[in-house]
Amino acid sequence: MNDLPPLRDVIEAHGLGAKKSLGQHFLLDLNLTAKIARAADIREGDAVLEIGPGPGGLTRALLAAGAHVTAIERDARCIDALAELAAHYPGRLDIIEADALSADELVLLSDNAPVKIVANLPYNISTELLIKWLKVGPDLWSSMTLMFQKEVADRIVAAPGSRTYGRLSVIAQAASAPLRAFNLPARAFTPPPKVVSSVVTFSPVARECDLFALERVTAAAFGQRRKMLRSSLKNLFSDRLDQILADVGVDPAQRAEEITVEQFIKLSERA
Ligand code: SAH
Repeated sequence: MNDLPPLRDVIEAHGLGAKKSLGQHFLLDLNLTAKIARAADIREGDAVLEIGPGPGGLTRALLAAGAHVTAIERDARCIDALAELAAHYPGRLDIIEADALSADELVLLSDNAPVKIVANLPYNISTELLIKWLKVGPDLWSSMTLMFQKEVADRIVAAPGSRTYGRLSVIAQAASAPLRAFNLPARAFTPPPKVVSSVVTFSPVARECDLFALERVTAAAFGQRRKMLRSSLKNLFSDRLDQILADVGVDPAQRAEEITVEQFIKLSERA
């Protein structure tokens, strides 16, 4: 669709000056938005859920790759600009003005789920949205391709023993298979954020796991990261603790950062 106006003109025409309060850092480089669509492996006819399309740069790349896009955007200023894009791709772009944090995606998508979720998210809500979608699980998504600040991406993909291994690593890796696709320098965005960013892809995993129980266990274990598990998990398991640790093959003198995701899942099954 070469007859679409440049994104800078769209931003100008609709007065879409970036708002800090909405975490707005726009992607205007078509090579980069195409690269994200490739990381998401978008094919002709794929149903995609995009959160925070803003002026629609990434949305254009998804549409060009052949997707049917449902987009949830909170900023009313962007809705008209997106409607112009929808007119270029009749029947392919549904725009929903809503707050993604409180949206019920399964209801909004009706019978289109599971979808591929793709988003350049505002950094202040990215972790909360990720956990929300991990909890809904494969009924909602067949893959997720999401932007994070690099420091958060590091935590998502961290392995046991690493400094960044923590609650987010365990929960993300219990409920999905996360992989860092690539990093982006701050200057890739308009306006540039203060940090380096990373695109992370998430694929479903076969195992079932109670993420609420896992949150309780990891909160206790990593809440007192330097402590041995015999003390950090005492409140949660009380007098069953020694037996449970023995059953899952964990030494009571170990610390949270040494425990594998599999072991945390087993602990959560007893919580
Ligand atoms: N995807 C666009 C914009 C990224 S900036 C691009 O890559 O250029 C983040 C976008 O998320 C903004 O458009 C912002 O308005 C939107 N946003 C912020 N909070 C939101 C929320 N709670 N629900 C939905 N969208 C939100």
